[in-house]
Amino acid sequence: MNSLKNYINGQWVESISQETIDVINPATQEVLAKVPYGEDTRKDVALATEAASKAFNEWRNVPVMKRVQVLYQLKTLMEDNTAALAEIITNESGKTRAESIGEIKRAIENIEVACGTPMLIAGDFIEDIASGIDEMMIRQPIGVSACITPFNFPNMIVFWFLPYAIATGNAFIVKPSEKVPLTMMKIFEFIDQLDLPKGLLSLVHGGKDSVDAILEHPEIKAISFVGSTPVARYIYSKGTANGKRVQAQGGAKNPVLILPDADIEMSSKIIADSVYGCAGQRCLAASTIITVGDEKGDIKEAIYETVKLRTTGYGLDAGVHMGPVITPESKARVERLIQQGVNEGANLLLDGRNPSIPGYASGNFLNPTILENVALDKELMKTEIFGPVMSLISMKSIEEAIAFINSGQYGNMACLFTSSGASARKFRNEANAGNIGINIGVAAPMAQFPFSGWKDSFFGDLHGQGKHAIEFFTQTKVVIERWPKEWSRKF
Ligand code: NAD
Repeated sequence: MNSLKNYINGQWVESISQETIDVINPATQEVLAKVPYGEDTRKDVALATEAASKAFNEWRNVPVMKRVQVLYQLKTLMEDNTAALAEIITNESGKTRAESIGEIKRAIENIEVACGTPMLIAGDFIEDIASGIDEMMIRQPIGVSACITPFNFPNMIVFWFLPYAIATGNAFIVKPSEKVPLTMMKIFEFIDQLDLPKGLLSLVHGGKDSVDAILEHPEIKAISFVGSTPVARYIYSKGTANGKRVQAQGGAKNPVLILPDADIEMSSKIIADSVYGCAGQRCLAASTIITVGDEKGDIKEAIYETVKLRTTGYGLDAGVHMGPVITPESKARVERLIQQGVNEGANLLLDGRNPSIPGYASGNFLNPTILENVALDKELMKTEIFGPVMSLISMKSIEEAIAFINSGQYGNMACLFTSSGASARKFRNEANAGNIGINIGVAAPMAQFPFSGWKDSFFGDLHGQGKHAIEFFTQTKVVIERWPKEWSRKF
């Protein structure tokens, strides 16, 4: 099997690296491809950056109305090829076909918002800020930028950045997760059909080595990262130390609070979708479910009944609600955390370990797991599980729950289920998380809004998506001009 090619300078090219690692279907263990890896992928980054720098000098002078035309073309290509793209996403990441289509739609939303760049990029102008003097603030592109993305959304996450980067006049390099490089291979087949300067958009494969090359290359001015917290922290500190603008999204541990006045039937369905959707491998997956008051028994039962109806299996098969986790190592880690929770006194209401999935004996499958009364100070309650595991705990009051939520390491999302406006208002105001859901289980911002994150879930200032992305990919320039009236010529 040949190694996957990079897309550099408008062409598909072999990596300079001879080293590869396997891309594996997590439902079947089939080797789908071999992806370039190792030290020599650094040289690929150098080639991509050289081509990108040249393309940038041309592209930044193309009028913004013209620049966004390629985004309309890309949107059409993605819409026309959604079915094929969704199959690729499912085969390499494990999520269900419906989940893959969902993330393609989210990517397209970002393209649509970035098509508004001609308005979003507008600066400020004040005439006669002093007598005969005008002042303006304009936005200019930052240069060559790059994104480094995780395995769990092989398509969507790149589009939190790419459309905004090129609409604002930058060149852009994509380094996808080595676990799921095939989705971007397909996207770059579409990109190859666009009328762009050669080198403006590049695809470079690899792992830590290619990332380090991006972090070190002086011509790369901005980096967008999404992945685990330790790597996000590393990218942010090394990237900023090297003078780059960096936005780095990290991991999460998302609490959901259910008050006694919540609609139990609706809440339990939404919460089960949040915990078990994408097999729990979502940075906005609910993980810790906190009940307040006496209805705990009813909620527990409603959640249990909802969860039992979910089918685990290969994501392209009909009727499947949940696919496998990404690797055997991930599966083993989740199983270890479940056992540890039990050893530390948690009550195992539903044990999702060792499921039998007919026809897919070697897949990395786990069924939904529910643990009750997990000790608050133990690892299970603190660490990001990234698997289909719910920890159910109870507290005496909304105040106690908010204090607990705010004591956590992460701040990606916090959700509340209630029918009280006053409780909702209090929670919205006091919960320390970048994304808040009220009667919503996955508070994923639409493309018009920044994909926020607080505490160890985000390092940086400006986030991906919407106006934040426009600001991230541009630098402001303030111009003051004096044009004395007496200089006016008479013709
Ligand atoms: P990861 O951190 O292992 O990998 C992400 C990227 O970093 C990959 O492209 C990988 O090649 C690269 N990388 C990995 N180790 C590296 C190292 N030591 N040095 C330099 N680069 C390195 O993350 P993952 O397992 O692919 O993704 C899951 C994580 O991503 C979870 O923690 C999840 O919460 C997080 N995530 C966060 C968000 C968000 O918006 N906050 C969204 C999606 C996923």
